[in-house]
Amino acid sequence: MTHPRKPEHLVAITHRQPKSVLNRSGMGGFTLNPYTGCPVGCSYCYVPHMAHKQTEDRAWGSYVEVKNGAAQVLAQQLKRLRQPTRIFMSSATDPYQPAEEQHRITRAMLEVFVRYPEHALHILTKQPLVERDADLLTQLPRVAVGMSFSTLDDHLSSIIEPWAPVTSERLAVIRRLSARGIATYLLWAPAIVPAPMPEKFVAEAIEQIAQSQTRALSLDALNYRARQSAGFERRLAREGHAPATKAQVALLRHEAERRGLQHRLELPEPALPDWATPMLPF
Ligand code: SF4
Repeated sequence: MTHPRKPEHLVAITHRQPKSVLNRSGMGGFTLNPYTGCPVGCSYCYVPHMAHKQTEDRAWGSYVEVKNGAAQVLAQQLKRLRQPTRIFMSSATDPYQPAEEQHRITRAMLEVFVRYPEHALHILTKQPLVERDADLLTQLPRVAVGMSFSTLDDHLSSIIEPWAPVTSERLAVIRRLSARGIATYLLWAPAIVPAPMPEKFVAEAIEQIAQSQTRALSLDALNYRARQSAGFERRLAREGHAPATKAQVALLRHEAERRGLQHRLELPEPALPDWATPMLPF
């Protein structure tokens, strides 16, 4: 199924040559963003509220900067790393947004990771274009592909994430990637649930998620900034939904654990290079 695309004339595409693409993350490891900006325009997106975006005068969702040559810069930076690290792609854009179809910055980065397979790479997207790169993903021993979603209700998803495929399509992508042996995870953030939440919802929701064959489910509540926007919560209320409370998130987490879903996907330890193989005493 195809989903609506934001009309091209509403997104200004520019190009620039980055000097660096790996940014140290406060949570350890690095973040990696092949693009600046994201046309998907989810109502709750936290990126426009990040400190370095406060001075940005362009409207979030109206611009995309393509990082030309980013893969070459990545290769230089990975070469300088002394030990395997964790890299999150992406923290401030969708690496498989529509621009990627033509510019292939993310794909070029995956080609680099094939040469540096010791690093753990967590990809996060909402777009089915990630399936295009299954040939490279299956060559990476330490990669995980995640899809984020906010609601299991496709109608609501089409309202608050207007330029992304509805949630059921994202779960179907995860199912297909999992069937190809690629480690997958789901990020339910911000968790939005029916209001009032029926008792059976927790078991049914986690069952639907487990059927995608994902290995892990992370959950997070609505961020502070989006919560400040009364309009967003009113819109949810009109559709019979609300941000999950902490107690509801805990219930969903508990059920996910009971079904064997990891809270955070663990990737295999990197293979030790030959020189680091311990000497055996016989
Ligand atoms: S896809 Fe991700 S980066 Fe893009 S607007 Fe939505 S939440 Fe923000």
